[in-house]
Amino acid sequence: MSEELNPHLRLLLGPGPSPVHPRILKAMSTHVVGHLDPDFLAVMDDCQGMLRALFNTENQVTFPVSGTGSAAMEASVCNIIEPGDKAIVCVNGVFGGRMSDVASRYGADVVTVEAPWGQPIDPQDVKAALDANPDAVMVGVVHAETSTGVLQPMEEIGAMCREHGALLLLDCVTSLGGVPVELDKWGVEVAYSGTQKCLACPPGVAPITFSERALGKVRERKSKVTSWYFDVSMVEKYWGNERVYHHTGPITMNYAIREALRIIFDEGLEARFARHALASKALQAGVEAFGMSMFAQEGARTPTLNTVALREGMDDGAVRKSLLNDFNIEIGGGLGAVAGKIWRIGMMGHGATQANVVYLLSALEVIFSKLGYITKAGDGVGAASQVYADAAS
Ligand SMILES: *Cc1c(COP(=O)(O)O)cnc(C)c1O
Repeated sequence: MSEELNPHLRLLLGPGPSPVHPRILKAMSTHVVGHLDPDFLAVMDDCQGMLRALFNTENQVTFPVSGTGSAAMEASVCNIIEPGDKAIVCVNGVFGGRMSDVASRYGADVVTVEAPWGQPIDPQDVKAALDANPDAVMVGVVHAETSTGVLQPMEEIGAMCREHGALLLLDCVTSLGGVPVELDKWGVEVAYSGTQKCLACPPGVAPITFSERALGKVRERKSKVTSWYFDVSMVEKYWGNERVYHHTGPITMNYAIREALRIIFDEGLEARFARHALASKALQAGVEAFGMSMFAQEGARTPTLNTVALREGMDDGAVRKSLLNDFNIEIGGGLGAVAGKIWRIGMMGHGATQANVVYLLSALEVIFSKLGYITKAGDGVGAASQVYADAAS
């Protein structure tokens, strides 16, 4: 027989999963009831109500999909896209690329709007793509691109999509719960997120929401949704008023997201967003004190995922291995074209704290001193401490 499970207690400061709040672990140890038990139906109602408030939407059809963020990406796209539909997808990193791949697998004729990694998409480029492709049925955008640390400004794109009759679909996986998400104000028609980034919850279910206009597109389909599992017209019969069996809801994960949402509203959205912003600012001050710079363009950075450009001659693998083995800290490396060139440091959910910023910077100072990257320890922690001191005064 295998031994009892005993994974390391890591501090998860990478691109996700993020540290799980202890209240959520406790909720997950609660006993399981049936997926149509009145107690569970109340859990479903709670989750839906709080998700609407967090997404800032009136959308009736708002619920946690059974699956991770990628499942919700697939559930969003597969309902909207019919084979042969034209889809505009904005790509400035890995997750925009994934959305484009998903759309093409469901038969979309995909047109991409691109920006260099580390920069946001220019809304004028979206407008040009819509003008050139008036038959496009959707525009896909990633709000916080986890591969680059860019936060996409969302004020303009929604109105452009409305004007052209295209549905705006937004990936909020690394933004929801960490920065403001205002779906109805921005004119977003379909959006999804995940639990393992800024909701401080393990991976397993993923918030999703469809507007009435988006559901109209689903109702007008000439062909059935290619995915049985994610067909919102069927899943909706379980999550909506009918409450009839579709698939067995992952009971424990719904306890988890319910508790995650309760924690968020206990803290308050403004306080929560301020906490994320401050942790990111302090972290940035610390890494800049090491003579390093941020990768994502200034003014377009998400506080939830901080990308740091390595200095010439720094050994990516050696630093991350020491962080993990000597300090039990996980941070992320770069993906694709920036592999070995950047680090991705998550300040997400329960992880976005002063204590974690200081601990990470201290650990980096020990490692950097050993590797000869800095001559004197204390500058990084000092700079971060100053940010917190200034914020408190
Ligand atoms: C993590 C992530 C996903 C995928 O979520 P999984 O939970 O890994 O399936 C999608 N989009 C973005 C922006 C992400 O950061």
